[in-house]
Amino acid sequence: MQDIKSLTLEELKQEMGRLGEPSFRAKQMYQWMHQKLARGFGEMTNLSVHLREKCAREYGFTALEPVQVQQSAKDGTTKYLFALSDGNLIETVWMKYKHGNSVCISSQAGCRMGCAFCASTKNGLSRNLSPAEMLDQIYAVTLLTGERVSNVVVMGIGEPLDNYGNLIKFIKMLTDDNGLHISQRSVTVSTCGLVPGMRRLAEEGLQVTLALSLHAAEDEKRKELMPVANKYPIAELLEACAYYFEKTGRRITFEYALIAGVNDGKEEAVKLGRLIGSLNCHVNLIPVNPIEQGKFTPPEGAFAVAFKNKLEKNGINVTIRREMGRDIDGACGQLRGRASRR
Ligand code: SAH
Repeated sequence: MQDIKSLTLEELKQEMGRLGEPSFRAKQMYQWMHQKLARGFGEMTNLSVHLREKCAREYGFTALEPVQVQQSAKDGTTKYLFALSDGNLIETVWMKYKHGNSVCISSQAGCRMGCAFCASTKNGLSRNLSPAEMLDQIYAVTLLTGERVSNVVVMGIGEPLDNYGNLIKFIKMLTDDNGLHISQRSVTVSTCGLVPGMRRLAEEGLQVTLALSLHAAEDEKRKELMPVANKYPIAELLEACAYYFEKTGRRITFEYALIAGVNDGKEEAVKLGRLIGSLNCHVNLIPVNPIEQGKFTPPEGAFAVAFKNKLEKNGINVTIRREMGRDIDGACGQLRGRASRR
């Protein structure tokens, strides 16, 4: 069955034409789904009962069911475990910042990238999420919190550039003025570094921020942490970043998970500084969230600060990410992993 919430307004107009409906019906229906966040055709009260029933027969209508909700006692960060219609589980995180509310969404159920420190990839990829299932996470959190979402980060479970077509459609629908109309500049897509996807994204004519999960300043070290590094060396990643900036004018964000004794030394900070010093960028240092006892642990606070200072000496803009939601299994994929083991 055609998933109606994954159709763009143009596609929906064609569908309504096929059903013999005028094209303004499509706009009404689109706004019910993407602005008023209706959870079914039954809520669309300005459409005839006949049309609503017909649509319910013809189309699938996705909606997420919260399975578990964990709220941090420290900072109000809330993590939702949602079930998709087929029973697959995904995670969505809601974070409150001074500058607005941010939602971190999943782009796939599971992941096939295999990063050593990441919980989301432990059972591989189950499937891609549809555009509607990505939108649904934002809609569900908006309805559950009663608050407006201002920023969206695609940094939850999955590799967004491994689900490229659905990701682009999702971004276009999220930022459409017949939908929530979130600014493209308030959307961040994080990748482990799929070079062809990064280059393609540069050419989409979008204004989203690209975040690259670097985590190491040398290929050999990066390969130990991220299998994808065997395919794309750092030099190619940085060329793709420069190309992204050239095409979009958007400053690149580099994510660097600090892991004690692995990539948090002064030498690494110096190498990283040399590597990216000439790019227009921002570095986000993330003390690693341990996913298994004893394996990857975050550095002592002083090490993180020393790492930051070294980079700043090279004129690089750096922040240490606040460890939001550590008390609620903050690392993405932990909740899903635990729930599916049960
Ligand atoms: N696949 C994409 C987006 C999802 S992961 C990517 O790789 O960027 C989002 C970010 O969280 C990435 O930077 C990832 O490397 C990081 N991450 C994953 N597990 C982590 C952990 N246990 N501690 C800290 N950061 C982690």
